[in-house]
Amino acid sequence: MQYPFKCGRIRRLTSYYPVTKGVNMSLEKFFSPQSVAIVGASQKKGKVGYEILTSMVKGGYEGKIFPVNHKTSEIEGLKCYLDLKAIGEVPDLVLIIVPARFVADIMQQCVRVGVKSVVIITAGFKEVGSEGLRMEQQVVQIAKQGGIRFVGPNCLGVMDTASKLNASFGGDLPVQGGIGYLSQSGALLAAILDMANANGIGFSSLVSIGNKADVDELDMIVAMGEDPKTRVIAGYLESITDGELFVRKAEQISNEKPILLIKSGGTTAGAKAASSHTGSLAGGDTAYECVFERAGIIRCNSIEQQFSFAQAFANQPLPKGNNVAVITNAGGPGIMAADAIERAGLGFAKLTDETVEKLTSQLPPAANVLNPIDVLGDALAKPYEFALEVALDDPNVDIALVLLTPQAMTECKETAEAIVRISKKKTEKPILVCFMGANKVASALKVLREGKIPQYNSAESAVSTIRVMTDYLRWKNRPKRVVRLFPVNRRKVENVIDRHLRQGLREVGEADAKEVLEAYGFMTPKGSIATNAEQAVNIAQQIGYPVVMKIWSPDIVHKSDVGGVKVGLNNAREVMDAFDLMMYRIPMKVPDAYILGVLVQQMCKSGLEVILGMNRDPRFGPMMMFGMGGTMVEVLKDVSFYLAPLTADEAKQMLINTRTYKMLQGVRGQEGVDIDAIAEGLQRLSQLVTEFPQIKEMDINPFVVGREGVVPIAVDARMSVEKD
Ligand code: ADP
Ligand code: MG
Repeated sequence: MQYPFKCGRIRRLTSYYPVTKGVNMSLEKFFSPQSVAIVGASQKKGKVGYEILTSMVKGGYEGKIFPVNHKTSEIEGLKCYLDLKAIGEVPDLVLIIVPARFVADIMQQCVRVGVKSVVIITAGFKEVGSEGLRMEQQVVQIAKQGGIRFVGPNCLGVMDTASKLNASFGGDLPVQGGIGYLSQSGALLAAILDMANANGIGFSSLVSIGNKADVDELDMIVAMGEDPKTRVIAGYLESITDGELFVRKAEQISNEKPILLIKSGGTTAGAKAASSHTGSLAGGDTAYECVFERAGIIRCNSIEQQFSFAQAFANQPLPKGNNVAVITNAGGPGIMAADAIERAGLGFAKLTDETVEKLTSQLPPAANVLNPIDVLGDALAKPYEFALEVALDDPNVDIALVLLTPQAMTECKETAEAIVRISKKKTEKPILVCFMGANKVASALKVLREGKIPQYNSAESAVSTIRVMTDYLRWKNRPKRVVRLFPVNRRKVENVIDRHLRQGLREVGEADAKEVLEAYGFMTPKGSIATNAEQAVNIAQQIGYPVVMKIWSPDIVHKSDVGGVKVGLNNAREVMDAFDLMMYRIPMKVPDAYILGVLVQQMCKSGLEVILGMNRDPRFGPMMMFGMGGTMVEVLKDVSFYLAPLTADEAKQMLINTRTYKMLQGVRGQEGVDIDAIAEGLQRLSQLVTEFPQIKEMDINPFVVGREGVVPIAVDARMSVEKD
């Protein structure tokens, strides 16, 4: 079966958007309005209403600006209007800066006048408590009914460099560039802006989304996805409003351009009291990890890292492969770069004979003409230019990394100019640069910045950027996702779940959980319930020795913890003794547990014990888990997660992502196990939990796996259910 959404090219993304989110779908007017009204513009220096007005003017905005303030007739030489109606035309964009209690009123005015796009800068809403929340909801209501889309409240505003729009009090408008930035924190945006302006980093647009009462992170990501001036989308997020929609759309957009996000704060909702192994191992951040991986989003840990990556994506082409050529004037940094390349799992380009010959013919005899190409410490700009061009011409080279240390003869600035020249001539392959030092390379760095060459302080950070670029390339070229659908017996599962929900039971014990698994094609050990010792012996004789005995109680989730599992019972005597012992000891350990009897079970031949599990994140849906199983799961913590539904490739990748994988392949002369059979188990479980949203958590532990061709057995299973 194909999963019901395609990963193809995006076209007119807004048209997919659910209509419930507002009538005016296009966010274009936020970025390129012909006219802007500023309600709450002020004459007083230091007030937000003054700062924004002057930012607008200073930024060189060429559209019309309408300050609105009923107390004055003119601000900074601009005619001031009594109210929106007095303007006499409908402004494309309205900025609201008046105190919170007046905002609803202004929004009403916007509706009456026919305004469609609004930015509410004003704070004092949801973020301050229940009264603020009430006011915010009122504003949302008015906007929705009036067909208005709005950004904020409690935000810094919007900037767009192409239309020279600085509708914010975040700072000076940056230079034009390919980075679109959205931030849930206004203050952080101000810091980014300051840093970017000091380094000449260019943006297409910057948006502070504030409380995102209407326009949220996804709206902005979609808008930036559609904007041809934005080559890379970057952002800082604290929360995601609509998880499942986010995953779907972000995946579509990532196919077109990279999304680089910083995400702070884990989901506490997902980490709520869990009784399963899977639930307790899924940390607050696991869901975001899964979502970002699935949607191809590049997660960044700091602003610095984010801009290291963003600069390269915004200004350089994507590489076609992962083979790096290093050009350097110093041996040490060259070796450091080579080490970093190896550690990052990237390829070290093997130069062709032709390249080596060319380099030999022009470079001094002492130069190293193999990768890293060492042009030597006294190299002037010319040999650098030559070596870089020759390296880029080599079909075995996908990426060039140029290193420089400012030695006595080094022509730093001229070398930078040469690199810029070459990058304009050879636009197919990315060039990243690391000029080490400070004073002597300062003017060179300026040349590189202006020439749109990404510049790094260390070879390591350049290499980690290359790694991220190649990871993104691999994600983009991933095979189409095809989720296999197995024939199953859904009715059987429905019955078990309905029965538990009717009786108000959350936990589904081993016997019932296994029935569910059997309905989805899993093999489980033979076994039956016994309520007395004689019955237990009878069942054991029917199954054949050896058998396993397990306590059967709805109140005991982890049976071994209370001495409720006895394996390797070889005859009637041992079965009877085990029964008596359990009935004597367990009630002493857990006096409140309601004990129904024991499960007498076929003993499985020894095999490797792994765990297959699922924990449902309230926001993003079912997360699948694979790991080393048995009773030590929580101790070993060797697990990996992925968002359901799983494709065969994703299921296999989950195995590869654990250390256990080496054991699965076979170590020290031991035969490996059937890896595809485990991956199939994960896919079957993924289908089960996708088809039954009532299942909140599930563990198959252990899932006993054997060598190639041996069907794995779900030896123990449990799940918890809730009304959907
Ligand atoms: P719990 O997880 O509730 O403690 P399990 O049913 O998983 O109970 O049993 C604990 C351990 O006992 C398993 O990890 C496995 O090693 C062993 N075991 C349980 N049932 C069987 C069986 N039918 N065959 C072989 N080993 C078993
Ligand atoms: Mg178990």
